[in-house]
Amino acid sequence: MRIDIITVVPELLVSPLNESILRRAQEGGFVEIKIHNLRDYTDDKRRTVDDYPFGGEAGMVMKIEPVYRCITALQSERHYDEVIFTSPDGVPYNQHEANRLSTLENIIILCGHYKGIDYRIREHLITREISIGDYVLTGGELAAAIITDSVVRLLPGAIGDEASALTDCFQDNLLAPPIYTRPADFNGWKVPQVLMSGNFAEIERWQEEQAYERTKSLRPDLLEE
Ligand code: SAH
Repeated sequence: MRIDIITVVPELLVSPLNESILRRAQEGGFVEIKIHNLRDYTDDKRRTVDDYPFGGEAGMVMKIEPVYRCITALQSERHYDEVIFTSPDGVPYNQHEANRLSTLENIIILCGHYKGIDYRIREHLITREISIGDYVLTGGELAAAIITDSVVRLLPGAIGDEASALTDCFQDNLLAPPIYTRPADFNGWKVPQVLMSGNFAEIERWQEEQAYERTKSLRPDLLEE
């Protein structure tokens, strides 16, 4: 898979995308992540990416030309399955969407900044608008990092133990059961006996029960879906 991220603040993406599992996934060739500085697609000396809004509102607006140049340049090199814009009014992001994106070959993620982007970009160039939650960020970079992180860990081979991603929260609309490691007794706080029984059928039954009970009490909305 290849993920191209377009931003006016590339520095914001460097550390989230270059440590731990995301770094190893790139080194292992499971994903290629390219960050594009929108200023490289400007044609004036001051490398302007924003301008005043028509209608005289407060805040600056990301200009159409650099975004158009960058997206069309990428599209001339390969086919993109989605051109995503991060936006608080986009479709709410969830595990279902992460799963879907992880099956695609090439995606572009455009990060907004300032007051937002010229609406014509959204009308003509964007195929999917995604919100990571009902709150407003200063820019789309952290949203792009979240989308990228959640997608990459689903790619086969990206996580050492492949089964692990399938037993996470939200797969099957269930929260994950509690997990423990050694010591089995810490200051009298004990690990549930069943996990040390060695009876794998019983352990699995216990985990399923726990997942169901936790979902019922913490996120009953997931069970209704
Ligand atoms: N004026 C806009 C908010 C601009 S915030 C509005 O009211 O909708 C600047 C940029 O941050 C946005 O263009 C978007 O790319 C990003 N952003 C902010 N909140 C976000 C969220 N919840 N999810 C995804 N992207 C977000």
